[in-house]
Amino acid sequence: MMQTIPSLFIGHGSPMNTLETNAYTSVWQKLGKALPRPRGILVVSAHWFIGATAVTAMARPRTIHDFYGFPQELFAFQYPAPGMPELAEEVAELAKPVWVGLDHDQWGLDHGTWSVLAHLYPAADVPVVQLSLNSLKPFDYHIDLGRRLATLRERGVLILGSGDVVHNLARLNWRNREGGEDWAHRFDDAAAELMADRPGDIAKLQEHPDYRLSVPTPDHFLPLLYLAGIAEASGTGASPLVRGCSLGSVSMTCYGVGTEGNGCARGGAGAEVPSDVPPDQTNL
Ligand code: ZN
Repeated sequence: MMQTIPSLFIGHGSPMNTLETNAYTSVWQKLGKALPRPRGILVVSAHWFIGATAVTAMARPRTIHDFYGFPQELFAFQYPAPGMPELAEEVAELAKPVWVGLDHDQWGLDHGTWSVLAHLYPAADVPVVQLSLNSLKPFDYHIDLGRRLATLRERGVLILGSGDVVHNLARLNWRNREGGEDWAHRFDDAAAELMADRPGDIAKLQEHPDYRLSVPTPDHFLPLLYLAGIAEASGTGASPLVRGCSLGSVSMTCYGVGTEGNGCARGGAGAEVPSDVPPDQTNL
């Protein structure tokens, strides 16, 4: 029988994390070594936020450099993992009656995916499929889709949400590289509490007093809802794998479902500087 694969949410922070080694990327690297090897990876990336639910269904997804203002080295980075058209079809089947479009030529792997997988699976030898975030749908839609997809855990698939629980680029504080503002920590703590105890209630965070500052746009928050749905469907909570904020207004907190007993790291708050990028760079 195939081993049940844990699911993850990774706070990806700056694209520069692709090339750097820090407290967070070290956790990602350890996870890649500790987790059972999946037959495929389904990534829900903050950076594919469109007016439809779609999956990449091409055999060879291209590496997309969806940002500007970063060093040439980052634009040269390639993540040549194969696609997995049959996994794309499984996703479309499991999601029914939700309609999932099969994308054969539009998207590929964006940096929400490869900045993390560069550390989890540096050899790029596990097939990868991306699922888009449907910008037209309410939170419950995303939680429910996570629930439906949870069964992929038993089919050897690693589901990976890639975003940031707190993500406010207008509030970046370059004098607070290693920490978060009080409101960012408060919101991050509230999310951790719900993810651990009542993941199905994660949408309640919309009522949190720090929600508007922490989630000015939903794109980086939504991938967390998929893990919440998976946790609920799996009858468990989601454990923090590492916690912390960077640049004042970005949460680097990561979660796992089913990660206990896999030798995965469990971290507390206060990790090191996650990046060292000048302030003219955007689209983290
Ligand atoms: Zn991002």
